[in-house]
Amino acid sequence: MNGNLRRALLAAAGVGAAGFLTERAPAHVDGRLTSAVLLLAVLTGTLLLHHRRPERARAMSATSWRSFSAAGVVLVVTAAADLAVGVADGRGFWTGIPLAAGTLAAGPLVLRGLVRWNAQCQHVLDDGHVTTTVSAVLAVTGAGNLLVPHLPADLSAWSWWQVQVWLLTVSLLLVLVGTAVVVARCAGLSGDPRLWSLTGALAALTVVDAFVAVTGGAGVVAVQGAAAAGTLIMGAGVLRACAPGPVVVSAEVPAGGAMAVLATSLVVLAVALAGALDRAALVWAGLAAAGSAASLVRLVRRLADLARARVQARTDDLTGVGNRRALVEEVGRLRTRGQPAALLKIDVDDFGLVNERIGHHGGDDVLVAVATAVGTAAPSGAHTARTAGDTFAVLLPDTGEDAAVGVARHLERALRDLPTPVGLGRPLSVSIGVATAAAGRVHADDLMHRAGAALALAKGGRRGIARYDAALEARTRDRSTLVADLGRALGDAARRDAELRLAYQPQVEVASGAVAGVEALVRWHHPVRGLLSPDRFLDLAEEHGLMDALTAHLLDRAVREAGGWSCGGRPLRLSVNLSAGSLAAEQLLPVVDDVLQRNGFDPRRLVLEITETTLMSDPGLAVEVTGSLVARGVALSIDDYGTGYSSLAYLTDLPATELKLDRAFTLRVTSEPRTAAIVEGTVALAHRLGLRVVAEGVEDAGALEVLRHLGVDETQGYLHARPLDPAGLRDWLSGRAPEPERCPA
Ligand code: C2E
Ligand code: CA
Ligand code: CA
Repeated sequence: MNGNLRRALLAAAGVGAAGFLTERAPAHVDGRLTSAVLLLAVLTGTLLLHHRRPERARAMSATSWRSFSAAGVVLVVTAAADLAVGVADGRGFWTGIPLAAGTLAAGPLVLRGLVRWNAQCQHVLDDGHVTTTVSAVLAVTGAGNLLVPHLPADLSAWSWWQVQVWLLTVSLLLVLVGTAVVVARCAGLSGDPRLWSLTGALAALTVVDAFVAVTGGAGVVAVQGAAAAGTLIMGAGVLRACAPGPVVVSAEVPAGGAMAVLATSLVVLAVALAGALDRAALVWAGLAAAGSAASLVRLVRRLADLARARVQARTDDLTGVGNRRALVEEVGRLRTRGQPAALLKIDVDDFGLVNERIGHHGGDDVLVAVATAVGTAAPSGAHTARTAGDTFAVLLPDTGEDAAVGVARHLERALRDLPTPVGLGRPLSVSIGVATAAAGRVHADDLMHRAGAALALAKGGRRGIARYDAALEARTRDRSTLVADLGRALGDAARRDAELRLAYQPQVEVASGAVAGVEALVRWHHPVRGLLSPDRFLDLAEEHGLMDALTAHLLDRAVREAGGWSCGGRPLRLSVNLSAGSLAAEQLLPVVDDVLQRNGFDPRRLVLEITETTLMSDPGLAVEVTGSLVARGVALSIDDYGTGYSSLAYLTDLPATELKLDRAFTLRVTSEPRTAAIVEGTVALAHRLGLRVVAEGVEDAGALEVLRHLGVDETQGYLHARPLDPAGLRDWLSGRAPEPERCPA
């Protein structure tokens, strides 16, 4: 039996014995005994919580831990004051007042602890939860005022405000019980015995508080309730945490809560008005109705903002056609439905020249005209998008290659017929690349890549329209031999270990300078070609079905190598990149399970980085697979955020915990105020969604300073270190000043 458990059982036995004794001798029970038992119970619970301080990081944020322990201290102090008052004053006027004040003061702390109770310290309810909670307490207090005349208790000795204080404390405790139940669902803590123990304690305290009125502060039930509350508080202090499930960030819970409070307060108002015109009930319920209505208005505004953001996030500002994000989503939809598709990539020839001759405004007009013409001439069911400056894409569902080329010819003619822009001196012309994908193989990255290759072919040969030619592409890039090599290296364990290695780049906390984790980056030590960076071979691996084997090897290698790494005694987080196809791979989850289990690696140290394109190409699948990963305790990071088609609005559905700002932001953040503003807004929204923000590609102290100012949590880049081999990383870590207590969980 571990020490904690023994201590808890002893304390519980003590408190239980007190309860038992009171049952034997009810004549001697009075309010002082209730206060004494409560004091003993909360004191023991608080001490246990402090004793577990080193372990607090286990699925409980530091904020929660501090809030609960502060609530414990407040209750201990006020219970002691209550006891003293009881001894000095008998059943006098002040008895019970300190403890009621203590409960009201501890309530907000307990609420804060509940709301932040998860490893990432995410806000699991919306930030209007304080208004809603206060309104709920007032609504219940209002209802209580209506019930008071019907209670069996004789409260005639109490003054009006004593009754109100009592009702407020009982209501607060009741509402906290409700909040705990909601948090259990939203924070993925329904399996955590500590939360249920605490909820039980709150319920027991509610019973005690209610009985205080009925029995005048005494009575067996009150003392036993206090004993039960104490035992449960101690339970919360000693029970073991379990792996938390995914945090659900949704607008439904806060909206439902605010609506329930509004409905309750309206009912209380109606009853108070219709009946004996209870003024206290009217005031409390009126305040509650105003508060919950304010919460609702806020929520409705927020939902409207989100809806607007969703539309904006899909539309190209300049031309009004879809943007890259919209296209990726459409491709994902076709894929889900199992439809084949063709993609045309259309590029305005010599657009640089157009801008030069007729200016940027004229250039913008040309783009709008092209977008309109493409949209009009494309067949029904097609989706038009602008994917880059002067590049458009048309997605054609259920279309084979020949039909797609036919559409391309039609579009080419339509665009040639556009009026010649004034000042350009020649008609517009475009080049079009055509790529197709069979049913079940429709993949956004892949289609774009192949349509892009075809477009390059069309431009290179000044051919107007070109089809994707896989063989030609492979030949021109001298890649087929590399693919074969990669296949052989992956198939041979010795070659695999010698050639496919990982470099690790540290991620540093902005606030403390402590190293929080490392990102594993693949390097191919090719026996003939030398060191190859990922961009030389990753897309090949993806195209030729080698990615799953590569990912499995790298995941295993990373977990093996990084298993023992720590900073200031705390194990480092390990980030591993997943490629586009990985989420769809059936073996991903079994591979993750197997690797973690074989190496005894704590899943909570593992972060999987996934790019937005991957997530958006099949959102349903992404939510499902990432949900399964997060349920295992593995964290999820959204990589390359901001590379052109992103909106945080979409990410609310995903259980991610980290957002990696793309290097493009970091590069421009010092020189462009607009970029700085975008980063600042993104950081604020990301924090609201409970995401940690990591900036990539930080190369100089100036950028770090600006990012610090904008609220970024962690940075990664050459400023701290280039990606290092394991020995290099160990040297680098030991070369840094010791950082006790500075490393995050
Ligand atoms: P990424 O995930 O965005 O990784 C960051 C890249 O930025 C790395 O390039 C890193 O070396 C580079 N970098 C880091 N700090 C700086 C800096 O301060 N300045 C500059 N200019 N660059 C910096 P790397 O290692 O060439 O990797 C390129 C991409 O290849 C990665 O981009 C990632 O998408 C992919 N990748 C790398 N390793 C793996 C892997 O094991 N699996 C998969 N699926 N993809 C990987
Ligand atoms: Ca990455
Ligand atoms: Ca990245």
